Order: sequence, then C-alpha cells, then structure tokens
Amino acid sequence: MTDARIPDDHPRAKSLFTREKLINSYLEGIVAASGLIAHGRGEAFDYLLGEKTSKQALEAIEAAAAMFLTARNPVISVNGNTAALVAQEVVKLANVTGSKIEVNLFYRSRARELAIKKLLEKAGAREVLGVGKKASARIPELSSERRRVDPKGILAADLVMVPLEDGDRTEALVKIGKKVIAVDLNPLSRTAVKASVTIVDNIVRSAPKLVETVEKLKNQGIGKCKEILRNFDNRKNLAKSMILIRENLSKLAAEGVSERGRAM
Ligand code: ATP
Repeated sequence: MTDARIPDDHPRAKSLFTREKLINSYLEGIVAASGLIAHGRGEAFDYLLGEKTSKQALEAIEAAAAMFLTARNPVISVNGNTAALVAQEVVKLANVTGSKIEVNLFYRSRARELAIKKLLEKAGAREVLGVGKKASARIPELSSERRRVDPKGILAADLVMVPLEDGDRTEALVKIGKKVIAVDLNPLSRTAVKASVTIVDNIVRSAPKLVETVEKLKNQGIGKCKEILRNFDNRKNLAKSMILIRENLSKLAAEGVSERGRAM
C-alpha cells in the first residue's frame, strides 16, 4: 500500500485519489504495469477534454444505455483498470441490464484473473465468467492469450462493453459480428474508432451515469431505445469530442495559459 496523504483541498485531489487507487490495485496484483501507463494516456486526454462529462459523452451514454436495453445477450468485459476503478458500478450495470460479467485481460495470469474475480465478487457480483478453464473459447481474429474468451460469455454475446480496451480486440469483436460499447478518453484511438458506441469520458464519471441512464430509459420502452440508436452516429460523436478539445485549447491559448496555470 502507498501511504500518500492527499489533502481534500488539493486542486487535483480527485485525479490523485484515482492514481492512488490504481497504484494500490497494481500492488495487489489487480492492475498490470501497462495499465498504469494506459491510465496516464487517459489522464492526458481528460485534461484536454476539461475533466468533465461533455454533452457528446452524455449522448453516447444514452446510446449505450439504449444498446444495452435492446441487446439479447449483453456482456461487460472487465480488465484490471476497470475493476480497480469501478467494480461496484460494473456490478450495478450488470444488474440493471441483465448482463454477464467476464474477466478479459491483455496480460492474462491466473493470479490476476482471480484477484479481479474476488474484487468483483466483493462488489456483489454473483457470477464472474472468463476465469481459468472457463475461458476455453477463442476469438479467431486474434493471436495468443488475448484470444481467450468464455463460451458462455463474450463468445455467445451480441453486445460486449469493453471499457479501456485496446484496438485489436475491439476490431476483432466487431469482425465476428458483435456490437461493441467502448469507454475511452482518447477519441483518436483505434478502439474509439472501431466501436459501435464510444463514450469519450473518464470511466470514473461515466460508469455511474450509464447506470442512471439505463434506469431512466428502462421505463420509456423499446421504441424509445430504437429511436435513440437510429439518431446516433458514432463517427460524428467522436468528431464532436475532437472539436471540444480544439475549442478548449483555443480558449486556453486566448486566455493565456501561463497566468491561469489551468483553466477550462
Ligand atoms: P488503441 O489500441 O485503441 O489505439 P491504446 O493503444 O491507447 O489504444 P491502451 O494502451 O490499451 O490502448 O489504452 C487504453 C485506453 O484507455 C487509452 O486510449 C486511454 O485513453 C483509455 N483510458 C485510460 N484510463 C481511462 C479512464 N479512466 N477512463 C476512460 N478511458 C481511459
């Protein structure tokens, strides 16, 4: 455990708490070393996006909620970073959408699989797929350990949510006919571009919002969900996030970055 004491009034307290959570989860064997680097990339984009959930992210969250509610067999794929940051929200989301939860790792090890399973169970998960021999099926488009999936989970799913995923796997899932919901702060990543719906927002903010949105939309019927999906265009939504970054940078440049240190 690290014992960094982060004062509540520190201007970057939230971000520092998240880092602490990830570092501790790394020390507990839940997060891979590369997961810490991936988080750093995410933070850089979060900074440029203004560290809040944008209007376009809310639109993508609504589309993701509609996709969950119209899916026959949805699965939430969980890696180390996702488990470390939002285990409870993953369980809530699985409950409100009737989704299965599957551990799916880029760097698979028995110890990490089990540590993530334990954390999800502690957060209330009744069943966690994809651990050990359960991950006996293979995605044809991928090489090595990354191919392994659970035949009862991702292999059989029509919709897979892949928070903080890499582009290859997202592309492979789309190629074998799955709908894919991604959560990725980088609107330029291959994952963001390949997914069916990409939520360009920090998972820490967007996961609870997604649960809330599913709960609201549930009462509005399938017709409403279909209408939301008809009107959603992922490429256009990603472009709006890129424009937001440009606008934020223009604003900062005009205001004078050196004086304010940090704005937006
Ligand atoms: P790709 O392979 O899709 O081009 P990549 O090589 O950046 O992307 P990874 O290194 O696996 O893929 O990184 C995972 C992605 O997760 C990064 O693009 C990063 O922006 C994003 N990310 C990291 N932390 C968060 C977070 N807390 N919330 C949302 N997204 C995050």
